[in-house]
Amino acid sequence: VSQSASKLPSKILELMDGFRASKALFVASKLKIFDHLKDKGPAKAVDIANDVGTSVCGTERLLDACASLGLLEKTPQGYSNTDSANTYLTSDGKYSLHGYIIHSNDHLWPLFTNLEFAVKEGSRQNHRAFGKKADDLFKDYYHSQEVNQRFMAAMHSIAHLTARDVATAFDLSQFKSACDLGGCTGALAYELVQVYPNLKVTVFDLPEVIANTSYFQPSGQHTAPVTFVSGDFFKDNLPEADLYILSRVLHDWPDEKIHVLLSKVSAVCRPGCAILLAEMVLDDEKKNRSTALLQSLNMLVQTEGKERSGSEYQALLKQHGFKNVKIRITGNLLDVILCVKT
Ligand code: SAM
Repeated sequence: VSQSASKLPSKILELMDGFRASKALFVASKLKIFDHLKDKGPAKAVDIANDVGTSVCGTERLLDACASLGLLEKTPQGYSNTDSANTYLTSDGKYSLHGYIIHSNDHLWPLFTNLEFAVKEGSRQNHRAFGKKADDLFKDYYHSQEVNQRFMAAMHSIAHLTARDVATAFDLSQFKSACDLGGCTGALAYELVQVYPNLKVTVFDLPEVIANTSYFQPSGQHTAPVTFVSGDFFKDNLPEADLYILSRVLHDWPDEKIHVLLSKVSAVCRPGCAILLAEMVLDDEKKNRSTALLQSLNMLVQTEGKERSGSEYQALLKQHGFKNVKIRITGNLLDVILCVKT
């Protein structure tokens, strides 16, 4: 390495290229190249291009870029998936991130294109990205069946990756019933009943979501003690439960809305019952965790919410009678906060 090369600002150069790498991953996923290679094994660019219906010259460059990023292997026989592409990038695996990648490409990318406006104006950018802005971000998501299912698939893929760590961060075996508020496809609910066979879980979400949950149910578990109830957690009565779960829900909302929701939970939560939050918990100085801090920008471009620190969650909970807050940093994408009401 020459002396000048060793002085290159490699971190900055890598960040400058970050969006190119993201987009290469998104396009390869959108074209289902990883699915294609899982079925067929090593394949030449020309054959992949023919099967996928793309140009040979463009496909070859995309495949080479993906190989250089560690997503594919390139040998004289052609391109094949790495193990991690087989696990995470094919669209049908248990831990597939395909749903979140498509959501990132189709939804988050146009929003992040307007990050500058979001920072200047301090507000979400759905109108600039998509030409419209409903009063509530979920109305933006659920206006069409296509966007609705894409969003649900995205939530499902991350929830699968995090569910085991969320379910086991604390021993929840004392609880007989749980209600997962904003529980979406039920991914966490199904994990909870696996870990705690005596637990019954109710997934509570908006009617547009509940109408589409059957697609995401694990096969062979139709008799599992998970039930789905539709409603609006700001307006409707909440189902009775010993444990109320809010996973990636509070980060969608500003403090005022959180107070409405927490006061409703507090009102139905008897002593001995508990609230469990699953969120990316920031350190108090908000400086150590770029995944979570970038997620907070992701909240800025599309919601009125943000990521918060452990102390901020503690303060919100305290105002609703939830003291003795316990926080577990899991090392996974979501951390867990538990508070038993005394
Ligand atoms: N808890 C799931 C997870 O961690 O994967 C989904 C998180 S997603 C960011 C937020 C969820 O809250 C969505 O499923 C959404 O439909 C639901 N939600 C939003 N507003 C709601 C409301 N007013 N009443 C009930 N559910 C709502």
